[in-house]
Amino acid sequence: MTTLQARTSDLLAAFGLDAAALGGTGDAFAVHSPIDGSVLATVHAHTPDEVDGTLAASRSAFAEWRLTPAPVRGRLVKRLGELIGEHKEQLAELVTLEVGKIGSEALGEVQEMIDVCDLAVGLSRQLFGRTMPSERAGHRLQEVWHPLGVVGVISAFNFPVAVWSWNAAVALVCGDTVVWKPSELAPLTALASTALLARAAAEVGAPADVGRVVLGDRAVGEALVDSPDVALLSATGSTRMGREVGPRVASRFGRVLLELGGNNAVVVTPSADLDLAVNSMVFAAAGTAGQRCTTLRRLIVHSSVADAACDRLARAFASLPVGDPRDAGTLVGPLIHERAHEAMRAALAEAVADGGQVLAGGERVDVGAGGSYVRPALVRMPSQTAVMLRETFAPILYVVTYDDFDEALALHNAASQGLSAGIFTRDQGEAERFLAADGADTGIANVNVGTSGAEIGGAFGGEKETGGGRESGSDAWRAYMRRSTNTINYSGTVALAQGVQFSAE
Ligand code: NAD
Repeated sequence: MTTLQARTSDLLAAFGLDAAALGGTGDAFAVHSPIDGSVLATVHAHTPDEVDGTLAASRSAFAEWRLTPAPVRGRLVKRLGELIGEHKEQLAELVTLEVGKIGSEALGEVQEMIDVCDLAVGLSRQLFGRTMPSERAGHRLQEVWHPLGVVGVISAFNFPVAVWSWNAAVALVCGDTVVWKPSELAPLTALASTALLARAAAEVGAPADVGRVVLGDRAVGEALVDSPDVALLSATGSTRMGREVGPRVASRFGRVLLELGGNNAVVVTPSADLDLAVNSMVFAAAGTAGQRCTTLRRLIVHSSVADAACDRLARAFASLPVGDPRDAGTLVGPLIHERAHEAMRAALAEAVADGGQVLAGGERVDVGAGGSYVRPALVRMPSQTAVMLRETFAPILYVVTYDDFDEALALHNAASQGLSAGIFTRDQGEAERFLAADGADTGIANVNVGTSGAEIGGAFGGEKETGGGRESGSDAWRAYMRRSTNTINYSGTVALAQGVQFSAE
């Protein structure tokens, strides 16, 4: 047994899991650590029958859970948040081992789970409907929000636990039950998280099947996609995946919430505070080794400050500590696998063929272990070419210049994805234009803040090929409920809307 494997077994044990018996009874698959490529554990996928059984159990649990008062449902999520807090370090360490996040970012991801549980507990007393004035005397008009059903969650590798919690914490207070298909690259953190939910459910007396996990590759995901038992499918991953999943769920009139690829840009204007801009951009571009949906991939900089911005970014990229994510000084950990590195190399070659100049990084870094470690790349481009308009899930920041603000907006909005955007400026007019209806066409748009690191209080998600879904805060909870509009007649007479007369007597 390797050191990482032994550590993984100890961590799993802290969640009551036996590393020798993980998952279902289907095909075995190995979970590799991107830190050194070694095997952390072997997991068994769930068979189609097991997935069906899980969905049936979840549907039965829903029948009970939907009638549990929402503030009582909130107690489950409150306890879940507490348990996650009690296991914060262990869960974060598992995130680091399984997907290679540096300690601070892994802890941040688990903190995000705790934060969204807090938000959901508050929501459990605030699932407000509206009352509307009726046009008819002696009538009352109201809308109420009811639980929706079983929510299927399909998640990507790069936020192996937070994405589930954004969905699950909110769905559970809304009265739904949840079946989660995590990334096949990150089943261990999923098992650990759902073990905490199972414990919370047992402690507060909630049905045991309110939250279940099914493991496996896309075939298991497809079972959730096609199941009429899944009322809402919340799918996070590549635009390719969303393109397949969206129409399939729509064809059975199911609901879908898509959180797909991003290709995020920042505009740096002549009046920008360059210290602020450069520091924010380095985190946004290089954090999580460029493997966030909100990663900064395009810099659109005014030509008068382009050289200064590029010099500073190049120096920062060249000095970023790349290495083992468990080392305290590391800021850039490994890519998830060698295929990601190959995609990065191919994108860089295409950029260079387009006339791009690599100002810093792009090379493999030898950290003395297996794993795919790279230095984040900064590439100055002559224009915004096709490679810039694709999401390459690796740390590459392309730079193009602009002279006129409208040109900057046009370059910004030329991407087919629409997740997150930022502008660095001290000119309020420019800031307001960036946020206006004809400004950045993304779901998230920031001023003097980079593209990544959103708070859970806002609704998270993006437009265009990012899929249009919204999760987490604000009124995103409505996606997890069904709206019922009620008209109550207390007049004792028949009065039809729009003044229609229809009386047979
Ligand atoms: P991926 O699309 O390869 O896989 C995501 C999940 O979808 C996995 O669980 C996978 O098994 C499943 N899946 C794949 N094809 C499927 C199909 N046809 N039917 C059902 N399930 C299917 O993505 P990934 O490589 O794990 O993650 C990286 C991608 O996710 C990037 O594009 C990134 O931008 C995106 N992402 C988006 C957000 C967001 O909130 N917008 C958040 C995180 C990641």
